[in-house]
Parts: sequence; C-alpha cells; structure tokens
Amino acid sequence: MNQYFSEELAQKVSRGLHESRMKGHCIGSVPFGYTKENNKMLTINENERKVLQRIFEDYASGKTILQISRDFEQEGLSNKGKKFIPETIRYILKREIYTGICKINGKEYNNIYPTIISKDLYDKVQKRMALTRYGCRKDNHEIFRIKDKLYCGHCNRKMYPFSTKSHNGNYLRYYKCISGRDNGCLTRITEKNFIEGIVDKFFKQQFTIQKNLDIITDLIYEENKKRTKSNNSLCCLKLDLHRVNTAIANIMTAIEKGIYTETTKSRLEELEKQRKELSEKLVIEESKVSYELTKSDIQNFFKVTMKEYPDKAIDLFLKFVKVYQDKIEIGLNYSINPNDTDYQPIKTYAFTETLEINRTFKGGTKRTKTLTYEVYSVI
Ligand SMILES: [Zn+2]
Repeated sequence: MNQYFSEELAQKVSRGLHESRMKGHCIGSVPFGYTKENNKMLTINENERKVLQRIFEDYASGKTILQISRDFEQEGLSNKGKKFIPETIRYILKREIYTGICKINGKEYNNIYPTIISKDLYDKVQKRMALTRYGCRKDNHEIFRIKDKLYCGHCNRKMYPFSTKSHNGNYLRYYKCISGRDNGCLTRITEKNFIEGIVDKFFKQQFTIQKNLDIITDLIYEENKKRTKSNNSLCCLKLDLHRVNTAIANIMTAIEKGIYTETTKSRLEELEKQRKELSEKLVIEESKVSYELTKSDIQNFFKVTMKEYPDKAIDLFLKFVKVYQDKIEIGLNYSINPNDTDYQPIKTYAFTETLEINRTFKGGTKRTKTLTYEVYSVI
C-alpha cells in the first residue's frame, strides 16, 4: 500500500486532520468579512460586512440557502470574484468567529475577530440550521454523498441523483445512469443507501486493518512534522516583541532619570499598544505549533473521525465508484505516479454484498429479487 500512498495525499490528509481539530477557526487566512493590512490586527471590511449581515438575516427570516445563493447570483454579488455557492453560504452561517468569539485549543478569545453578527442572530441561525438538517430543500441533492464520483460500469457514464415519492409518502432515492434503458444500459439504476453503504463498509474495512493503518500513519506523521517545522512567523513575532520590550525598558529608564515629555509619553503609549498586539498574535502562533500530532492522534483520526464522519473518507480517498450488473469497483486516490503512462490499475477483491429488493405490485402481488455484487478496490 505504501507505494500507492502519494506524498500529495499525505499532505491532504495532514491538512484534513488539522482542520478537523481546529474546526471553525481558520487562523492562517483572512476570513470573508475582514481585512488585514501588513502586520496589523484584523479590521472589518465594510462591503463584505453588509453581505454577511444579509446572509444571516435572510436565512434567519426563512429564506433557504439555495434561495440566497440564487438571489446573489442574480444581483451579481460575488465572493472575491467567485460565486456564492450554497456550500459557501452554509459554511459562513456556521462560523462563530463572526460573533467575535474564537476558540483555540478549547480557550476562548474575544479580541481576534471584530464582531460582525450579533449573538442573538447567530443563535437564531444555528437553531434553524439544526432543524433543517441539510439547510436547503427537503430532498436536496447534497444528501447524495457520492454524486460526483459514481459511474455506470456498463456505459462508463455518470450516474445522477434521482428520487421519487412512494405511495406512503417516503422518498425513494436512487442514482440513475444518464444513458437509460433505451440506450441499452444494463445497470440503469442503483439504490442510494445500498451503494453508499458499500462505500462506507469498504473504508471501514480499509482503516481497521492494522497494517494499512500503520503505513498511512507513518506517512502522515512525517508529512506533519515538515508542516509544523516551517513556522517562521513565530520567530519574527518573538523578535519583534523583544525589540518592543527593550524600547519600553529604555523609556522607563529615561523616565526614572527625570526625562518625561509629551513625546516620551506618546511613544510609550504607542509601544505598549504594539506589545499588546504582538502578545495576542503570539498566542495564536504558539497554538498552531502545539498542534504537532503524535502517531496515536493520527490513528485515532482514522478510527474515530472516519467512523463518525464517513464523508471525510469519501472526500479524501474516493476517486470513483463503478456499478456493473454483478460487481462494484471502488477506485482509490492512492495514486502511484500520475505521469506514469504504463500504469496498469490493480484490482483487489474486498467482499461480496447482496441486496434484496421487495416489491409490492398493484393488486398485492409481492416479489423479491436478490442481487449479488462482488466489491473490488482499484488502485
Ligand atoms: Zn449505464
């Protein structure tokens, strides 16, 4: 497995690990709504603040995320040149930093991000988001978890989300081959929960094999070590702070000697302000460094996070799923050398899964069909 697990993927996982540990507080970049000049503290970007205010207010007053996204598109409102897609809006609505509160390592800071959204409005939005689990329409496509990665093995074309309402009012969800029966497709349709269940089972199996886990862990560990080492800003901040402290000490000596003018007073105030700002930044940078991960952190990530958030595995490792009449192929992102043209995919048998379909026809006739699929991994 190690030869398939590229450095690039290790980097991606390492990033994912950091993100999942630091959920909701991206410190490295400047979030939408704020501006940062040189080494100064963040300030509010007035134009972006208005957009944020509207997103929160529109959502709280009953608009769906999809409606907001469409409104913005019609009005030509963009997110630094990019469209406000529903995923972006949902991400924004969840960010607590807009209330001025930022949590790092379990500690709360209220002096890093200036407040844009009131606590009341934020709470109202969270309440509504918890009620409408997916944030959008009831039958939103977002709940189709492998929608961009599923292909029909027979036609080699994409399979699309598709749902109908059954006679008892429940939604029946499928993925459907774009070709359809008329074009000779034999796969045609597959049940959403069945195929997604197979993907989850497959990843669970992959990450519970200790040998696999050890290889992945070693690679990510090394990658992460490189990441945490390259922290230059911490050194710069420490130097700056030292310089400011020395300057303050010098002025204090001068004051003790009786030299106290308006200039020394304002200079001292200026330096003390700088010292406060630098100390705050230092806290943030130091919290980043303390994120050096241990091997058991990484193993726990796979054991716990992958189990609790299976979508993370899909996002990071799943390249494609191909459904045939009697087999399913799961393509993985563990690329060898993407430039190697002689590369032959390696197929490995994983497990066999059966699906029983019970149908009740008009008049009450019942019929059961059993489908059997062999599941393979493809690297
Ligand atoms: Zn097809």
